[in-house]
Amino acid sequence: MSRKKIIAGNWKMNVKPSETAALIKAVAEATAEYGDKVEIVCCTPAIDVPAAVDAAAGTKVGVGTENCHWKESGAYTGEISTGMIVDAGCHYVITGHSERRQYFGETDETVNLRTRAAIAAGLTVMMCIGETLEERDAGKLEEVIVRQMNVGLKDVTAADCAKLVIAYEPVWAIGTGRTATPDQAQEVHALIRATLAKLVGEETAQTVRIQYGGSMKPGNAAELLAKPDIDGGLIGGAALKAADFAGIIAAAANA
Ligand code: PEP
Repeated sequence: MSRKKIIAGNWKMNVKPSETAALIKAVAEATAEYGDKVEIVCCTPAIDVPAAVDAAAGTKVGVGTENCHWKESGAYTGEISTGMIVDAGCHYVITGHSERRQYFGETDETVNLRTRAAIAAGLTVMMCIGETLEERDAGKLEEVIVRQMNVGLKDVTAADCAKLVIAYEPVWAIGTGRTATPDQAQEVHALIRATLAKLVGEETAQTVRIQYGGSMKPGNAAELLAKPDIDGGLIGGAALKAADFAGIIAAAANA
């Protein structure tokens, strides 16, 4: 089964609207030769989206947001709906990032609502899961991953999986410079695929891309992306420098 690699940047709260076009253009320029082999995405703060979509027009770079709400509209101050995200020209969204879970009260249940709303709106959704260091050290890795999958993907059908990407992000590896070894990551990616197979069937599970996220950079991307169940990356820090992001994309193109 060949799954097209997907490398997505998560800019977090780091790039101003006035800085956005330059970064998107630099990414597009540095990665133009890989655009047919690798799906390239930049997920930006919502306020950067108009500038990002404008700068990405005519390039192989897709634009997404870092979160979405599940309601179409209403009194939800500070939230953005999937309809707004689509209307603004995005094709992607991240749900369930560990920083949302850690700082903003996100639960497996709300991740499920957001993920289903994104799929229903036609967005490609990168649903993040991953264990904390305490959970791993307590031997709860499998329990946590299976729970996050089962609840996060409740009522997600096999047909919905065409729009689903899972991002495995061990919380202890995000922004810490500490990366899971390729073997550690592969072990969890295989668990994720096996769990997916129980939920939506083996055939569909083989088609779903599973990204690794957590201090991925040009220097470690190739060995991670060489693993059979690692189908891409969700990139934080290294997505803020076009040359570093392009280095990861080059590794994905050659994997
Ligand atoms: C992330 O925030 O999704 C992430 C993986 O960050 P970093 O690459 O900086 O570890």
